[in-house]
Amino acid sequence: MTSDPLAAPTTGSPHPAPGAGVTLPEVATAASTCTLCKLATGRTQVVFGVGRADADLMFVGEGPGEQEDLRGEPFVGRAGQLLTQLIEGIGLTRADVYIANVVKCRPPGNRDPQPDEIEACAPWLDRQLELIRPRVIVTLGNFATKLLLQTKDGITKLRGTEFAFSRAGHEAVLIPTLHPSAVLRSGGRALAESRADFVKVKRILSHGA
Ligand code: SF4
Repeated sequence: MTSDPLAAPTTGSPHPAPGAGVTLPEVATAASTCTLCKLATGRTQVVFGVGRADADLMFVGEGPGEQEDLRGEPFVGRAGQLLTQLIEGIGLTRADVYIANVVKCRPPGNRDPQPDEIEACAPWLDRQLELIRPRVIVTLGNFATKLLLQTKDGITKLRGTEFAFSRAGHEAVLIPTLHPSAVLRSGGRALAESRADFVKVKRILSHGA
């Protein structure tokens, strides 16, 4: 049974994500017509995610920017180029990992996603995590970190620490790190901290959690 992804959200209505399919492409197809929050009105397309369906390493960012909205792929602008460099710095490629965002549609003017938008979109991310079951989850910046760790603490406080992620039988290590956009703005020390976090990711992937 599938719900109509175009249906307007109403109190108590089930979210379409849990019943949207049993493979990532099926869920992506269902999400592509989602209008469950107001971000649907300004997008070019839904930017669901990209990468290996069985990736050991999954990145979760904030939301699509202008380039991502146009191309339909997360992290393809300048921040994406930095993310790619950091991934390649630990001997992997983008094809080895999975990359998604907290919200799948571009917030207008690249503003922060709002709480109601994050809440409406979270079940799509939950379904991605359920199907991919990565061993290591890297949250990029405040929004992904706060959502997946269910915390109010900010990324500056949390980065540098490993967290256990456990949900519905899925156990993973969660590494919070700075959003590549923030690293581009801050440079120097922020870049060194990001590199250190990626070294940690490499160690966990190499030796197990
Ligand atoms: S941001 Fe998420 S919940 Fe909102 S319309 Fe896009 S896919 Fe649907």
